[in-house]
Amino acid sequence: MDYYSSQISKLIEELSRLPGIGAKSAQRLAFHIINMPTEQVQQLAHTMTEARNNIRYCKKCFTLTDQELCPICSSDNRDPKTIMVVETTRDLAAYEKTGKYNGVYHVLHGAISPMLGIGPNDIKLKELMERLREDVDEVIIATNSSLEGETTAMYISKLIKPTGIKVSRIASGVPVGGDLEYIDEVTLLRALEGRTII
Ligand code: ZN
Repeated sequence: MDYYSSQISKLIEELSRLPGIGAKSAQRLAFHIINMPTEQVQQLAHTMTEARNNIRYCKKCFTLTDQELCPICSSDNRDPKTIMVVETTRDLAAYEKTGKYNGVYHVLHGAISPMLGIGPNDIKLKELMERLREDVDEVIIATNSSLEGETTAMYISKLIKPTGIKVSRIASGVPVGGDLEYIDEVTLLRALEGRTII
């Protein structure tokens, strides 16, 4: 039997489909939303719709942005000859938070995983290789230290080697299996500074 009216149940159900939101959190969020001023709820819904409609991949680095080029790629203060390869836009955000990285990025949107059937063509790897035709000094591979992240790092390194471009891998100050986004800034910086040529 439903305890709540069907509309509340529907809201709880929709919210519980979001990642990391269990039944209890969904219920808490639903009641919070119901108690919010109407205008605030409209604003929230509007912002979500707008974001979904306007956000796309940056033409160069494939991070999420609302312009053709993201603010990092279009900045004159960044060094376009150093490219850090990350798995997700969240990983990019983690490195940006350190405020110490001056190069640009390339977001793969995933990692190679034979077990999950994700191959090199399923991530933005071809796009990375295309970027390397331009003047690039170094590619820093900052994929996660999970099995998939390591597999991807090795694969990329093998692809780039013949081009003569320097390829490095961030140090393993990052715990094995650790997601970059959960790691503190000091550890991230140490991993970046301690990178080794592979
Ligand atoms: Zn970009």
